[in-house]
Amino acid sequence: MVYKKKVFKAAVLIKKNTIKILDLVKPNLKPFQVFVKIKYSSICHTQLQEIQGDRGIDKFLPHCLGHEAIGEVKETHKSVKKIKVGDKVCLSWIKNDGNDAGGSTYSDINGLKINAGPVHTLNEYAVISENRIYKLKNNKNLKSKLLLGCAMSTAYNTLHDEFNSNFTKTIVIIGCGGLGLSCVVMAKLKKFTKIIAIDKFKKKQEIARELGATDTFSSIEKLKQKFDIVLECTGDIEVLKSSFKFTKEFGGKIVLIGNYPKGQKLNLDPWNVIKGITLKGAWLDNNPFNKKFIELEKLIENKKFNSFFGQNIYNLKNINTALNDFRQGRTVRPLIIT
Ligand SMILES: [Zn+2]
Repeated sequence: MVYKKKVFKAAVLIKKNTIKILDLVKPNLKPFQVFVKIKYSSICHTQLQEIQGDRGIDKFLPHCLGHEAIGEVKETHKSVKKIKVGDKVCLSWIKNDGNDAGGSTYSDINGLKINAGPVHTLNEYAVISENRIYKLKNNKNLKSKLLLGCAMSTAYNTLHDEFNSNFTKTIVIIGCGGLGLSCVVMAKLKKFTKIIAIDKFKKKQEIARELGATDTFSSIEKLKQKFDIVLECTGDIEVLKSSFKFTKEFGGKIVLIGNYPKGQKLNLDPWNVIKGITLKGAWLDNNPFNKKFIELEKLIENKKFNSFFGQNIYNLKNINTALNDFRQGRTVRPLIIT
């Protein structure tokens, strides 16, 4: 059945550093598309980079934004079999099983064409590809489950291989934004006994300790020894270079999950690698994330991550305040209620 909502608001990137709230018209659903009422959404550094033009030439302007949200399914195209109207869902950029419907196209009420990717979340409602949707097992802690759309799933995926390893129970996490703090949560859940978290902001160090970090530092340069596993979550190429000094030769690993601005290059002395340090990514396969998502939802089911969001709650109208607070480090993840 066609859902009655016809016009809804969305935060649209019009040009570099300019976001406007526009009234979009609901299009007819195409195969494998799902119409979702967004309830909670957030922002990560990917959106900041997009907004600031740090991801190269943006050929999709004007376009919708965001890739993590919690919502409720309001309408499905008849080709969609894996979810139904009324399902509570998490939206993510990470591919689930199901078909890829590609991006969406909207017009605003004045006829301006607006592009959108297969997932976009800074909207009251959105047309999403079925393979970017995860059906939630239950309604518990929906705000915290918002983090499953990006940071927490990336952290889980990153540590997944190391979870079953007896290699070490010590880990260094550089950068305590949403991703780094999610790694702290995962490291604690997987019983790492020494969790060293590094961030220049005192407040973020405090949150890291609340979440399970055993030691915190303001800079990687304060470390006094070398470690087996170093997670680089800052997206700062200079920090990445420094991380080699603090990773053990003959077997140490640096896992790269930070979000680096497009075009930056790593200038690396090959001897760093010859001496047995592995520099690796975390996305080691392209399999649908569904199985890991189910494990992860269960793992965090009773956890609340209020410290990620802080005191302020935003709505679409004050998206620019949310972005500003995020840039200034006043919130780890702005919670946007749509
Ligand atoms: Zn993200």
